[in-house]
Amino acid sequence: MIAIDDLRFAYPGGFALHVPSLSVGAGETVAVVGPSGSGKTTLLNLVSGIAVPDGGRVTLDGTAVGGLSDRERRRLRASSIGFVFQEFALVDYLPAEENVLYPYRVGTGLRLDRAARLRARELLDRFGLGAKTRRRPHQLSQGERQRVAIARALVTRPKVILADEATGNLDPANKEAALDLLFAQAAETGAALLCVTHDHELLPRFDRVVDFADLRAAA
Ligand code: ADP
Ligand code: MG
Repeated sequence: MIAIDDLRFAYPGGFALHVPSLSVGAGETVAVVGPSGSGKTTLLNLVSGIAVPDGGRVTLDGTAVGGLSDRERRRLRASSIGFVFQEFALVDYLPAEENVLYPYRVGTGLRLDRAARLRARELLDRFGLGAKTRRRPHQLSQGERQRVAIARALVTRPKVILADEATGNLDPANKEAALDLLFAQAAETGAALLCVTHDHELLPRFDRVVDFADLRAAA
């Protein structure tokens, strides 16, 4: 579902990343661990098409992301990728429920119908936010915002789920609940789940754990 081949990327005049190979199959769950500043977020941005590689290839569900126009990449991202951002990236003027439904506003190929609204409610309920669907992000705690961000990543039933330190701000109960949802999604829909995490206690739950230092080659 996710295939990386000889991926190269550098920020202008700065940090450079080279990942020879990484693949995550449909329904497979993979954790990537590594120190802060090692390029984990950059890697997820390259996989999702937010950043464009200088060389090499990212293939998602058989589509080479590098061959797409900006518009096509945005479309693929909205319809096929659920991304839990490290800093949540919620829209502050929208209530929680509308934040969860945000992929339907930007995804040209997606229809915001009754089923989508029901699913958004259900996800918020499962995260214990059923009574807070009208709250805006600044009226929620850090952990609650993180759960909204996870719900938003799952609402479209994406084939690829990318999570950047997605459980970092959660208490143990919500951490388990968040992971349960991410894993259930991968199992139900055959999504590939790629999680970047610092949280070593969660690692036994994954099919595979990759050390970022082993993933990278000399840039
Ligand atoms: P991690 O997620 O593992 O903490 P990042 O991918 O965020 O690491 O960052 C990797 C390196 O790239 C860091 O040294 C960071 O300072 C640098 N970096 C991140 N974003 C940018 C950017 N937009 N421009 C230049 N350098 C950046
Ligand atoms: Mg990061």
